[in-house]
Amino acid sequence: MSARFVPVPTPETGTYWEKAAEGELWLPRCDSCGRAVFYPRSFCPHCHGDDLTWFRASGRGVVESFIINHNPAPGYEQDAPYVIALIMLEEGVRLTTNLLGVEQTPDAVRIGLPVEVVFEQRDGIALPQFRVITGDGASG
Ligand SMILES: [Zn+2]
Repeated sequence: MSARFVPVPTPETGTYWEKAAEGELWLPRCDSCGRAVFYPRSFCPHCHGDDLTWFRASGRGVVESFIINHNPAPGYEQDAPYVIALIMLEEGVRLTTNLLGVEQTPDAVRIGLPVEVVFEQRDGIALPQFRVITGDGASG
């Protein structure tokens, strides 16, 4: 029923997916320079240090950029048009996601929109996605 892409955990990303399955967003942080790292890998892309420690991220961020895709990849036809957003997390790393809880239109989505992580169950994987935070301070 679903031909959607499902990520395959690797040694570098195993912790990421294990914590996602528990409903938590975890990231590696470099022990040398203190910066968070995404995507998970075996060394720091900032200083090339190779001592990384996992920590639980806030799961909050803002929309930094987005597109609205009208030409979906195979398996995503029923969703089009849909937003693909670049999220800047509070921890200073970016990740790409779909955007839930908002109309998938240029009128509804805007740069700076506050978002929080949610976990979508997809074929045995808990996939981190982001939804717009509604309520206090998020109107307008
Ligand atoms: Zn570093």
